[in-house]
Amino acid sequence: MTDANAQPLYDTFARADLRFERGEGVWLTTENGERYLDFAAGIAVNSLGYSHPHLVETLKTQAEKLWHLSNIYEIPGQKRLGQRLVDNTFADKVFFTNSGAEALECAIKTARRYHYVNGQPERFHIITFEGAFHGRTLATIAAGGQEKYLEGFGPKVSGFDQVPFGDEKALKAAIGPQTAAILIEPIQGEGGVRPVPDEDLRRLRKICDENGLLLILDEVQSGVGRTGKFFAYEWSGITPDIMAVAKGIGGGFPLGACLATAEAAKGMTAGVHGTTYGGNPLAMAVGNAVLDVILADGFFEHVQQVALFMKQGLASISDRYPDVIAEVRGRGLLMGIKSVVPNTALVQALRDEHLLTVGAGDNVIRLLPPLVVTEEEAREALSRIEAAAERLSVSARQKSA
Ligand SMILES: *Cc1c(COP(=O)(O)O)cnc(C)c1O
Repeated sequence: MTDANAQPLYDTFARADLRFERGEGVWLTTENGERYLDFAAGIAVNSLGYSHPHLVETLKTQAEKLWHLSNIYEIPGQKRLGQRLVDNTFADKVFFTNSGAEALECAIKTARRYHYVNGQPERFHIITFEGAFHGRTLATIAAGGQEKYLEGFGPKVSGFDQVPFGDEKALKAAIGPQTAAILIEPIQGEGGVRPVPDEDLRRLRKICDENGLLLILDEVQSGVGRTGKFFAYEWSGITPDIMAVAKGIGGGFPLGACLATAEAAKGMTAGVHGTTYGGNPLAMAVGNAVLDVILADGFFEHVQQVALFMKQGLASISDRYPDVIAEVRGRGLLMGIKSVVPNTALVQALRDEHLLTVGAGDNVIRLLPPLVVTEEEAREALSRIEAAAERLSVSARQKSA
């Protein structure tokens, strides 16, 4: 430990020099008492903001009873949370995990097993899309297909065929006798807040049906109220066969789930898949508490209203500062600003205004506030975005002068 820069953690994260100590609602406070408006929300995780009284109370109560139990026993809360997900989605069956990547692993295995038990074990290929992000395990980096995440980690897990985003011809050409499923995010998050048009999702459903393929949706980022419906697929009127969920469903507690129809999950029989921590009593208690709030009357309408307010405000700022903001896109509170200046500069300028956002591909920054954000807080965020745009615009003009 003689190196002055040595520190004990892997150097895998380029961390901002910010130390937060506590949070309340949409606000984070640093050790020095500085307050930040958080429109990143742990990357769409803190769906109910910080210190939500119902979540805190639920976690405390459960902590005094049981934390962990093996899945060799019945686990308190698991059937209830599973049933609520089944009652409110397309799904008949649920498998709980601790993260998004694990939910995707379960989804991929479920699709492969489906064809295996149908007597077609050769059908294990899954078609994915350029710009996708499905996690950082060996299978999910293969599914995401991004060279920067695959490089140096040995042979790419086989069975993932990638096609350009929105290219139906290429998609159809990629379908063969080995194809098991199509995997897609209804809105690419990391890829730069790129929504799949509803019409395209409907066509994907049709292509799956015509070719005996399973449709797997990755709603790890777009789900659990983020777009103003429980899940983003609802906007299109179609349903998937399998869906990966995580992030917002735990409200900050590590929790994910793989949802499937009974038919799609028919290969997932006793012993073929498992998890130690997935579905533990603490996670189940918190997940149920998140649903208490999200599924209450009027919650999705609230998300839609604040989102509309934000969208109009952002459109107006983008009109006035076209040299900073090129485009505003997304759905609900999964919002993207395509930046003209480097997106890292925009994230930094917003951070200087004490507004937290997060970058994405395609030179986009994401705005992902807690879903409980009020219109007043949204107005505050807009005024900070405006201030940052004004500063960046002035310096852009000075540079070109
Ligand atoms: C974050 C994310 C994942 C991975 O989730 P982890 O919990 O980090 O494993 C997968 N898919 C999408 C769309 C995501 O946004």
